[in-house]
Amino acid sequence: MFEEKTIEAFRKLPTPFYYYDLDLLQATLKIAMEESTKHGYKLHYALKANSNPRILQTISKMGYGADCVSGNEVSRAIENGFDPKQVVFSGVGKSDQEINVALAQDILCFNCESLQELEVINGLAAGMGATADIALRINPNVHAFTHKYITTGLEENKFGINPWEFDAILERLKQLRNLELVGLHFHIGSQITDLTAFKNLCVRVNEINQWFAGQHIFPRIINLGGGLGIDYHHPDDNLVPDFKSYFNVFREFTELLPGQELHLEPGRALVAQCGSLITKVLYIKNGVNVNFAICDAGMTELIRPALYQAFHKIQNITSRSEEKIKYDVVGPICESSDCFGKSVLMPMTQRGDLVAIRSAGAYGETMASQYNLRDLVKGVYSGEI
Ligand SMILES: *Cc1c(COP(=O)(O)O)cnc(C)c1O
Repeated sequence: MFEEKTIEAFRKLPTPFYYYDLDLLQATLKIAMEESTKHGYKLHYALKANSNPRILQTISKMGYGADCVSGNEVSRAIENGFDPKQVVFSGVGKSDQEINVALAQDILCFNCESLQELEVINGLAAGMGATADIALRINPNVHAFTHKYITTGLEENKFGINPWEFDAILERLKQLRNLELVGLHFHIGSQITDLTAFKNLCVRVNEINQWFAGQHIFPRIINLGGGLGIDYHHPDDNLVPDFKSYFNVFREFTELLPGQELHLEPGRALVAQCGSLITKVLYIKNGVNVNFAICDAGMTELIRPALYQAFHKIQNITSRSEEKIKYDVVGPICESSDCFGKSVLMPMTQRGDLVAIRSAGAYGETMASQYNLRDLVKGVYSGEI
């Protein structure tokens, strides 16, 4: 929850806005970095979770690398202090222009998803007289036990190279002179709260790593992607995810070969809890069986509930009423899915009250749109209000 003086400051600001607690962000980054360093793991922050420059500068200063999924993310990362030699470029559909941006920056590695992509990167690298370091993104067919829209590591998903393609790819790689195979990459999904999924991933990765070793190929980098989930239901009890247990799973179950290093790409786990969407109640409308609290933020500012039925804790942070009432908390957008939460129990709510939608630091501001010609939502930072 927020301190009284923070809420007083919120009252003076135009709404809606994202409020970022940079102290919490720093504390989270410090813990994750310390815990991973104990094991010698390298962390690449996944920019798509939040690419706000202030957030990126805070993260790059702590020594993190970056996982990017577009040419603009590669540029944004480097502009905000990430070392190009710690930038990786993932994504199933990299355009020629985006590949050229990354080649020019001489990034750490391209995580490649198909034979055709390898051909294209090889050709573009040759044109520049360069060699591109690449990792093969492999589809491990491991279940992430998460929402189907954020599951990426099953055969039915569009992501990654399937094991039956390995032979053909290795054969072709021998001829692609401007590529150097330096890693194997995996990413099974997002908002994973059952650590068994990561254990299953490790077991599968060991088999695949052994298969490559059998072909006398020992890639230096084993990159197991991101996906660690956070507690959306009880943010105040779990402001910092349990990074220790997360890294311990990899410590216990990965069998790295000599010279191999483990890389991970957390996004959500680093930034989700430091952000809240602050919105003002415009109207209270009493429906047949339901009361609506109609807010000045909607799916244009935070699309996760509309897009994948995501839960966010919703709190009226200004009402002093003792009486508790259930509200459907909705936005102003002309879509019925524009609803942040149904039957949310809040103190009696009135026009002008401020509502906080918690745990919105990841996949919030980055997914904002201007649908209905709305203004793009802005960020506000602790220590500056
Ligand atoms: C989205 C993504 C991540 C980050 O996922 P989180 O669930 O936010 O940790 C990491 N790696 C790749 C390749 C991704 O696409």
